[in-house]
Amino acid sequence: MVRPSWVEIDLDAIAHNVRLLAGIAAPALLCAVVKADGYGHGDVPVAEAALEAGAPMLAVALVEEAVRLREAGIEAPILLLSEPPAPSAGEVVAWDLIPTVYTAGFARALSEAADQPVGVHLKIDTGMHRVGAAVADAKDLVAAIVADPRLELGGVWTHFAVAEEDAVFTRQQLETFNGFIEMLGSVGVDVPVRHAANTAATLLYPEARLDLVRVGIGIYGQRPAPGMVPELDLRPAMKVVSHVSMVRRHPAGTRPSYGRRKALPEEAHVATVPVGYADGLPRALGAHGGEVLIGGRRHPLAGTVTMDQIVVDVGDDLVEVGDEVVLLGSQGAETVSADQWAEHLDTISYEVVCQIGPRLPRRYLP
Ligand SMILES: *Cc1c(COP(=O)(O)O)cnc(C)c1O
Repeated sequence: MVRPSWVEIDLDAIAHNVRLLAGIAAPALLCAVVKADGYGHGDVPVAEAALEAGAPMLAVALVEEAVRLREAGIEAPILLLSEPPAPSAGEVVAWDLIPTVYTAGFARALSEAADQPVGVHLKIDTGMHRVGAAVADAKDLVAAIVADPRLELGGVWTHFAVAEEDAVFTRQQLETFNGFIEMLGSVGVDVPVRHAANTAATLLYPEARLDLVRVGIGIYGQRPAPGMVPELDLRPAMKVVSHVSMVRRHPAGTRPSYGRRKALPEEAHVATVPVGYADGLPRALGAHGGEVLIGGRRHPLAGTVTMDQIVVDVGDDLVEVGDEVVLLGSQGAETVSADQWAEHLDTISYEVVCQIGPRLPRRYLP
């Protein structure tokens, strides 16, 4: 017997979202971003579902994430979104990954590791100021890539800092990017693939779709910001499920769990559920309005989230050991969304789904 708590991942939902977003992005191609274990959903199953749904390309943050995909037999093009440490250049070549380049040092390391021409994507910084070549330095870097017979310029890209909230800054970034591409054209450098858009920019700025969009959060069925493009039929793919392990009746004023933070307003049944912060259920949910679904109804947490268990105030509802509990997702007509968690916790849905930890087994549907 194992603990009756798990994460359900609906791969049909992933496939649906990929097709929906690819349709919006077309004729730009959709690169499915599966970094961070597919935003907590499981990188290999998500990658396979996305490829099957028509995505021609994947992207990850780390070499080790790309290697996991390759070791699972995935042969699709895989873009690395950052430069790894230079000693990883050999692995990048050996596993046939598409490296992003923004320093002369890493370009050199790739060239030295290559036995045949390696296609690289140059990243320029147009305003995110995290990684990427400064526009002023990028021309020289392009020249170095073009001059090196073991490197090929496969693409040029950039990344938006505020695509979900600031049109002025986003358009300015795009203008800087387009200006750089034009400049390359004027000196005879052809850029086969240009890309800039994340999910938010794909949805909000048709002019930013260019040749390729890098879509992460949308393929998991989450919006980049709550309420964005409300008519869009995105389907959340993650559901966190557990089952009641104990039920007891307590008088009004009882203060369950560590810290005795909350008093029951009325006499009530309190259900214990075997999921805790070690599973990625944020501890702060206890004090900030966290709710779960049991019997198709919303019920508030009755106290602090502990490492392995939570307590739920189910009022006078007849709840029994073994009843299904939905912590994230839908049960009957009710839904607890990642955006609702994010609002309680002052964060974003991205962090909510990424934090659902490896101790909860993933079950893939269908
Ligand atoms: C994570 C990431 C994306 C995907 O962003 P979403 O908002 O999840 O669509 C795209 N590009 C880069 C560089 C990223 O790091």
